[in-house]
Amino acid sequence: MTSVLMLYRLQKIDSQLDQVKNRIAEIDRLLNEDSALRAARQALSDAEQQQAKARQTLKQAENQVEAQQLKIEESEASLYGGRIHNPKELQDLQNDVASLKKYLLVLENQQLEAMLALEEADTGVQDKQADLKTVEGQHGNEHAAHLGSRNTLQRDIERLDAERKALTPSISLDEIKLYDRLRQQKRGIAVAAAADSACEACGTTLTPAEWQNARNPSKISFCPTCGRILYAG
Ligand SMILES: [Zn+2]
Repeated sequence: MTSVLMLYRLQKIDSQLDQVKNRIAEIDRLLNEDSALRAARQALSDAEQQQAKARQTLKQAENQVEAQQLKIEESEASLYGGRIHNPKELQDLQNDVASLKKYLLVLENQQLEAMLALEEADTGVQDKQADLKTVEGQHGNEHAAHLGSRNTLQRDIERLDAERKALTPSISLDEIKLYDRLRQQKRGIAVAAAADSACEACGTTLTPAEWQNARNPSKISFCPTCGRILYAG
């Protein structure tokens, strides 16, 4: 095999590797891009926080109602217990009970509002849980498909790497260096196929002498325009 042909083969392998690696990078980007999932999780977390707050508010309201009922019971026990005989004292106590009951209504109203707020928060959490499930379902399918493609591409890389390893020992170090430098300078394409007296990378038409050179398999020649190694197979 001639060195130009081998450089051309190396180029083919590297171009495929570039392509596969680009696709893997794109898949990784998609795998990481789970903004919908993040948003759904955040919405659920917000709803759960609101639910916890509503539950706490209700608990406080219930405690207040309970304490107020206890106060009323105690006052009524004193009122009807028969131990107080002073009319003024009895009247005061009666007034106390009346105002305690009046405030109980206020507290009970607050309790009712807290219950309604908790019900609303519960519904909010259920809604957000359902939303998240939907998004996770969609995401799960895509995720599995992406992972499948990624595995296939990873195997392609292993195969191409093995091909590359088998090929490179038969190319001289100087040629590899030249090739690597051109790959860096020419956006990954160091070796261009030449067909019908034209460089396929840049489209330049070669002079008969240049075409003749390109067709000499044992000598490296370059495209006069883009500077790539020409391979006229
Ligand atoms: Zn060219």
